[in-house]
Amino acid sequence: MSEKISRKEDTPEELTLAEKLINEGKFVEAIKIINDIEKKGDLTPTSQNKSTILKSYYLNGVGRYKDSIKLAEKAFKESQRLYNKKQSVESLLPLARSLLLLGEQYKSFEILETCKELFKTLKEKPKEIKRLDARLARLLGLFSSYKGDSRQALLYNEKALSLAQEIGDKSLIIIMYNNLGEDYRILGDLNRALEYAERGLVLHEEYYHNANPTNLAYLLSTLISICIDKSDLKEAQNYLQRLEQLNHQEDNKIIDLVYRSCKAEVLKSIPRARNRVMAEDLFRQIVEEEIINLEVWVKAIINLFDLLLAELRITNIVEIVDEIRPVIEKLLEIAEDKHSNWLIVEAYILKAKISLLTFNIKQAKRFLTQAQQIAERFGLNKLAKKISDEYEDLLKKSDLWEKLEETNAPMSTRLDLAKLDEKIEGIFRSKSLLTTQVREEKVAISKETKICLVCRGEVFGFSYACKCGANYCENCARALSNLENVCWACDNPIDYSKPSQPYKEEEEHIKVQEKVKKKK
Ligand SMILES: [Zn+2]
Ligand SMILES: [Zn+2]
Repeated sequence: MSEKISRKEDTPEELTLAEKLINEGKFVEAIKIINDIEKKGDLTPTSQNKSTILKSYYLNGVGRYKDSIKLAEKAFKESQRLYNKKQSVESLLPLARSLLLLGEQYKSFEILETCKELFKTLKEKPKEIKRLDARLARLLGLFSSYKGDSRQALLYNEKALSLAQEIGDKSLIIIMYNNLGEDYRILGDLNRALEYAERGLVLHEEYYHNANPTNLAYLLSTLISICIDKSDLKEAQNYLQRLEQLNHQEDNKIIDLVYRSCKAEVLKSIPRARNRVMAEDLFRQIVEEEIINLEVWVKAIINLFDLLLAELRITNIVEIVDEIRPVIEKLLEIAEDKHSNWLIVEAYILKAKISLLTFNIKQAKRFLTQAQQIAERFGLNKLAKKISDEYEDLLKKSDLWEKLEETNAPMSTRLDLAKLDEKIEGIFRSKSLLTTQVREEKVAISKETKICLVCRGEVFGFSYACKCGANYCENCARALSNLENVCWACDNPIDYSKPSQPYKEEEEHIKVQEKVKKKK
């Protein structure tokens, strides 16, 4: 009896093989085995759940993140029902990764926390513990790099690398060489970056040749970025050629996206008008598609913005400004959707600078105020300080801007004064897509909620409500009364001496509650 049970709990050989194949990126073979064994239909609940988990890894590997999430959630529920802690951890890993790549950082963060806690309670063989620990460290590294903390990412990635080396997991070793290469690139240590990425490529060729194409695509993409940063365009083009071949062979959304993004970056870095037009087309294409990787998407939209600015500078055609505005609106829309606070603030700064180009100084000031208030609200203090310096700078240069308007100065002069190139440089370097601080932002905005017109946050407690219906949080009302002291919606002065509004709100709130009670 007991023998039977223990045999039942063993993972069937086929699934062990499928797992190995998935780790090596041999997805087609793996999914065939999984489908075959599922068709037979005699799997135990535990094995069936393992099969679901593997399918989730597979979907994650081929870039179908939403489908991967659905299966991982299902597998997690089932592993809880089965009191199977190992499978719980195994199902949370692809869940967290898919959520993160789609930009759902809050959910991803919570899943990672749960996963860490569960991991501590595991009682598996040391090798199995190391295998899972390495995968967890890899994810934590990815999370840190999305947050813009490349040093922290480096530590996690080094841990994952040494664990992978201990258990001889070749596929993971290669991924970690790639990730460490990217970390060092962001940190500006290009020689070391190249060393790691090249080591990854050598190892990949030694073990996988044409298998594991997604990993190869990431490696080539890292190498291309490093070469562009080193101004070695020839080498960048060589790697791009290999990536093009790979994309030609494979039918894989992620590889196609990575290829187009790299191609556009290489084209952009070759200073010929024709290339830059082609790069612009490619970036625009990526920006307009459904987002399957937030990092690639943000890179594309900032590059597009950069190219349009360069065009504006060279051609002096004012209409290009009208082409730039919707690009920033799109950036803002996605930043808000993904709760990327840092990106929201940057989008407002860009809006301010674009307003300057058409001499709308008042609007520029307001956008800067918004950027600063939002930065403060989210605790992005360094950024808030920078914006306040920008504001001071703008005040000092007001006369200069007026002069430029009078003489209808060329765009290049306006761009220089607005310091837009510097700003874009800064955004490229930051890379902090995510901010995990303000959790209250998750709260869905209901009809009852009052939203501050300036920082667009929920208005709690003391606030200022203008007669026109516009709401301001206390911070923003104070900031505005110190600045222009008018309501942005109706231009009436913000009367700061009558604190009667908050009480009114309270009364209304109570009335609503009473109504609800009566209904019961
Ligand atoms: Zn506010
Ligand atoms: Zn008003």
